[in-house]
Amino acid sequence: MISSELQLLKHESMIRFSFFLTMLLAMRLWEIIAPCRRLSAPRLMRWFSNIGLLILGTIILRAIFPIAAVGVAMFAEKQQWGLFYTLSIPYWQSIVLTIIGLDFTTYWQHVIFHSFPVLWQLHKVHHADLDFDVTTGFRFHPLEILLSMVGKILTILLLGTPVTAVLIFEVLLNATSMFNHGNVQLPSKLESLLRWIVVTPDMHRIHHSTITQETDSNFGFNLPWWDYLFGTYRPWPSVSHQKMAIGLTEYQKDLRVAQLQWMLVLPFLKQPSNHNA
Ligand SMILES: [Zn+2]
Ligand SMILES: [Zn+2]
Repeated sequence: MISSELQLLKHESMIRFSFFLTMLLAMRLWEIIAPCRRLSAPRLMRWFSNIGLLILGTIILRAIFPIAAVGVAMFAEKQQWGLFYTLSIPYWQSIVLTIIGLDFTTYWQHVIFHSFPVLWQLHKVHHADLDFDVTTGFRFHPLEILLSMVGKILTILLLGTPVTAVLIFEVLLNATSMFNHGNVQLPSKLESLLRWIVVTPDMHRIHHSTITQETDSNFGFNLPWWDYLFGTYRPWPSVSHQKMAIGLTEYQKDLRVAQLQWMLVLPFLKQPSNHNA
């Protein structure tokens, strides 16, 4: 392991937290100055629950996978496991390929979470949010976070990804998730250009529509390319971004969806589903 990677590992939590906080504050400020939509659910309860779910998910993830993705990448490097080490791919190329490879896995994991009823029960927690803002990006059931980490670990071991690349990917995914869940709208020319390199709030908002065909599109979180490539891209909602209904049809106007305890038990409740999964 190169010495800069050792330094990076020492400060991993601090680096991640600093980027997280900076992005959160920037997005919140943007949402206050120029919101795209009027929020409908009780704001404080929703924020408390979405942030609470993030904290709970992080604690559970660290308890079950104490070394997490970066630690697994360190292990793979020590053992020289994985495709990139076997093929002796140059360092910088393997960094770029890792970011693209992990993003590809994240896209397919998301598609799979929509395709199997048992996984959809977990992912429903994310979609049940009645509003769409930066805190929606935190709203994932701890079991979904754990399963996603398993997918990430398998990809890291298969590819043999550099430690730095995994850390960059995690910081990037965290930041883009906050960006594309933002209750904001970009100038249309800039937005259509950005759509070539990153998933924008207008793209991801469509994924939170109550209409199943719209929910089952725009699965990307970071790079938009996979949606273009695999035919899951939808450029606009059937009604305007301001008027489209957000959430799940079966929980519209149901304020329990903003409660932390309800979010935790939702996957285990027998609920009438309006989704095709
Ligand atoms: Zn989804
Ligand atoms: Zn989302």
